[in-house]
Amino acid sequence: MLNGKAAIVTGSTSGIGLGIAQALAAQGAAIMLNGFGDKAEIETLRQEIATTHGVKVGYSGADMSKSGDIREMVQQAAKELGSVDVLVNNAGIQFVAPVDEFPEDKWNAIIAINLSASFHAIKAALPLMKQRKWGRIINIASAHGLVASEDKVAYVSAKHGLVGMTKVVAIEAANHGVTCNAICPGWVLTPLVQKQIEARAKEQGVPVEKAKNDLLREKQPMLQFTSPEQIGALAVYLASDAAGTITGTAVSIDGGWVAQ
Ligand code: NAD
Repeated sequence: MLNGKAAIVTGSTSGIGLGIAQALAAQGAAIMLNGFGDKAEIETLRQEIATTHGVKVGYSGADMSKSGDIREMVQQAAKELGSVDVLVNNAGIQFVAPVDEFPEDKWNAIIAINLSASFHAIKAALPLMKQRKWGRIINIASAHGLVASEDKVAYVSAKHGLVGMTKVVAIEAANHGVTCNAICPGWVLTPLVQKQIEARAKEQGVPVEKAKNDLLREKQPMLQFTSPEQIGALAVYLASDAAGTITGTAVSIDGGWVAQ
């Protein structure tokens, strides 16, 4: 379905981003991986995706908190893969503390990586999509892009901002063959969430398994995690021609979290 297309997936060395990169590659898209991690492990991953799906796979170590790095990543993808047709803004971090104790450096880092990085990447990639009169921008927001939770002021602000950015870009790109949508996952069991579960278990002096179940019960009517593969399948759908007129939306995949 995506033969001849090229996709950048930020933060794709782990978790949801990796699930999306694999799903897009399985549809024939060339992939630009991005994210931090062990160099040798990333190279193995790059080769695995390329050989499993018979597509070109590149890697950019761009730091999503740096606008110059982001511009270079987009240029590198255009040069190595021939175009940038799909942009998935996925890289993200979390930090949890009450607003009056929230460290300024954590606020700045979360806003930079979870919000501003998407602006810089879209700004650099949209002209390339317009040239080819086809493009798909998919912003990985969160249930926290639609509702709030305590102790997550930076994350909730960034994700709400990202949902707003999605709408603006959708309107501006509407007659250029480019769609822009946000995906709003509930809980997905990735390293980002595993850290939060372990912190809760420690803080409350309970086993990790109990902390994991409590986390789900607190927010999600459906007591199961969404998988990175399920998010990948949704990204593939949004990149498909069938979704050609879906734009400016925030699609929930959250086990009923925001239905309450
Ligand atoms: P993760 O920690 O497994 O992966 C995050 C990825 O981002 C990694 O590849 C990491 O290397 C990369 N990254 C972090 N900082 C970076 C930087 N400065 N520059 C480049 N890459 C950087 O997390 P995840 O759970 O897969 O989260 C992915 C996205 O999904 C995030 O935007 C997160 O907010 C969102 N999300 C996650 C959940 C969940 O339950 N896991 C729910 C809703 C939304």
